[in-house]
Amino acid sequence: MTEANTQPEVNIGLVGHVDHGKTTLVQALSGSWTDQHSEEMKRGISIRLGYADATFRRCPGVDAPECYTVDEECEDGSESEPIRTVSFVDAPGHETLMATMLSGASIMDGAVLVVSATEDVPQAQTEEHLMALDLIGIENVVIAQNKVDLVDRDRAVDNYQQIQEFVEGTVAEDAPIVPVSAQQEVNLDLLIDAIETEIPTPDRDPGESARMYAARSFDINRPGATAADLKGGVVGGSLVSGELSVGDGLEIRPGREVDEEGQTEWRPLETTVRSLQAGSNDVESARPGGLLGVGTGLDPSLTKGDALAGQVAGEPGTLPPTRNEFEMQVDLLDRVVGKEDDESGESDIEDINTGEPLMLTVGTATTVGAVTSARDGECEVSLKRPVCAEEGAQIAINRRVGARWRLIGVGTLS
Ligand code: GDP
Ligand code: MG
Repeated sequence: MTEANTQPEVNIGLVGHVDHGKTTLVQALSGSWTDQHSEEMKRGISIRLGYADATFRRCPGVDAPECYTVDEECEDGSESEPIRTVSFVDAPGHETLMATMLSGASIMDGAVLVVSATEDVPQAQTEEHLMALDLIGIENVVIAQNKVDLVDRDRAVDNYQQIQEFVEGTVAEDAPIVPVSAQQEVNLDLLIDAIETEIPTPDRDPGESARMYAARSFDINRPGATAADLKGGVVGGSLVSGELSVGDGLEIRPGREVDEEGQTEWRPLETTVRSLQAGSNDVESARPGGLLGVGTGLDPSLTKGDALAGQVAGEPGTLPPTRNEFEMQVDLLDRVVGKEDDESGESDIEDINTGEPLMLTVGTATTVGAVTSARDGECEVSLKRPVCAEEGAQIAINRRVGARWRLIGVGTLS
């Protein structure tokens, strides 16, 4: 296989209610589970966002959709041809905040919404995740109606209609609904066909300056490593534009907090790219798509324990400003979505009030802000931790409702 076919070129989010089969589906399509990444990449990434690469292949001489497979060997014994490698981002389920899913959304080019045929539609996170796709504007969606092996035909048809009704008026309105069994590996060819059609690789300009959203960062050194053996800090995330090569300069914002005579401020970090890991390979240069591990010359204490998660990296001098406060245009939802009946808290969404705390997701950054002024459709926030973001950036707005942070709307940085 050529490298062009093994480096993932598109990120596809797996979303949907817990236990509906997201992880099983990713396993069926990729044959592995984040194992492709080195141990240090793997450690912890499944806690935040799990990436798994899958190479879609075609059996020569066979018509679509039957030709599509992830196996290297076709039924007639011939070898299949690679078409495209995609990277699945398996958004975590119940245990995690909506924000984690949304931070995945900023690096998703499309999404597969997994809906179990065994339950009524919609379940809480089915609704919540679809709403998030809608808000963030992820339009390339395929719906996998999963677990069809567990229901009879009538129930499957009934459930299919429930899904159709549920997605009416949303980004997923025209999304194909593909009945599958992730566990029994039924209809995966149809699903691949739908993904190939609905979630194309975006047109990207390789001449644009490199921009990467950091989802993680870590120190890969074993405890007790000697100074001579010490490796620089590693940043994991996704490129959203441009190309990054070994030897390139790299700026990271907001950077690090420095404390001088009682005053704290954030200073950008500057370093060079020492190594790159894309998919399962060490590469000399990388384009958008999939998870990228960037070895840097930074002191590993700066990257330890996800210290740089949520930051933005790219060509020095090209990054957006670091903001300690900002103003945004606000679009609120009518009501809280994805709330179970037995959960406490109001379901209607009231206007944003001056003084209230909000949890804001900007790119892969999540920060708490206090509202310093709120008017009709607009508000100003002062952040606990600054973010690097440009005008027009989309912001997911969460409010504490009952025991949880809930998505209440979307903002546009003005
Ligand atoms: P997730 O929470 O959405 O990631 O769901 P998982 O992939 O962990 O699946 C939850 C449970 O459903 C597991 O026990 C799976 O084995 C099972 N499961 C997933 N897909 C199917 C399917 O197509 N058919 C059947 N019978 N079980 C499935
Ligand atoms: Mg899962």
